[in-house]
Amino acid sequence: MALTVVHHPGYTIDLPANHPFPMEKFRVLRQLLGERTLACPIEWHTPQPATLESLQRVHTRDYVHAFVHGQLDRAAQRRSGFVWSEALVQRVRLETGGTLLTLEAALATGLACNSAGGTHHAHADAASGYCLINDLAVAAAHALAQGWAERVLIVDCDVHQGDGTARLFEKVPGVFTLSMHAARNFPARKAKSDLDIALPNGMQDAAYLAELTSWLPGVLAAYQPDVVLYDAGVDVHHDDRLGYLSLSSDGLYARDHYVLNLCREAAIPVAAVIGGGYDRDIIALAARHAQLHRAAADVLAAHPRFD
Ligand SMILES: [Zn+2]
Repeated sequence: MALTVVHHPGYTIDLPANHPFPMEKFRVLRQLLGERTLACPIEWHTPQPATLESLQRVHTRDYVHAFVHGQLDRAAQRRSGFVWSEALVQRVRLETGGTLLTLEAALATGLACNSAGGTHHAHADAASGYCLINDLAVAAAHALAQGWAERVLIVDCDVHQGDGTARLFEKVPGVFTLSMHAARNFPARKAKSDLDIALPNGMQDAAYLAELTSWLPGVLAAYQPDVVLYDAGVDVHHDDRLGYLSLSSDGLYARDHYVLNLCREAAIPVAAVIGGGYDRDIIALAARHAQLHRAAADVLAAHPRFD
């Protein structure tokens, strides 16, 4: 049994020096996972750029057109956190294609991970907070459109609320949005997810895991999803620059292992994305993201059969 991990070198593009987005983390994560021995081997898959048709399932045609052709105005670019470039468009389409491929692999094997993804702030017609296209929403909509699933559950554990995803699926019964985030963090104006678990600043491992374990089994039992999209953002870590929670690296592993194992035992496929994580120490940051892949390999090794 091998763990499918999706990666493309194009996830990383050149940014101006001192840009606050840690663009190198995808490259370093790939390198780190290549060097490590996990509980089962990794099978690497390379995505294609997501088609415009797949993006337009959740974004407006006008927005997709403006994004792809470099017609976002300066305010829109500022809100996105990036200056527009051809390379940026290709990167975003690869990252979204990566989440689509992760979904497909998860449906085939029960569990797969992207080495990027989790751009949950992107709205139907606007970019926000380093998110230009909402890969989680594109994947959920794709699963429904292809008839691969009737009910998709998005479990978003990034420290920031998944406001874009929540708004996109506000009136869509086929997608249940769960967001567990720091209450007093970006975005200032929260959306309404199907379930919001808003946490106080400074929360540590035990209290965080107690919240998660008190909610997730009930949601799985009540909603009975055909597939779970899991955003394993590591900006909940106590050293993160943008998070206000205080998880340790062991806490990240425990969280990811809990989510993946619970779904595995319930025979629900999971497609996981790495989500947010912000630290100037790229090696430390990549190691935090790699907790997801370590947890996934451990869950696969412990439960090789999926049925
Ligand atoms: Zn975040």
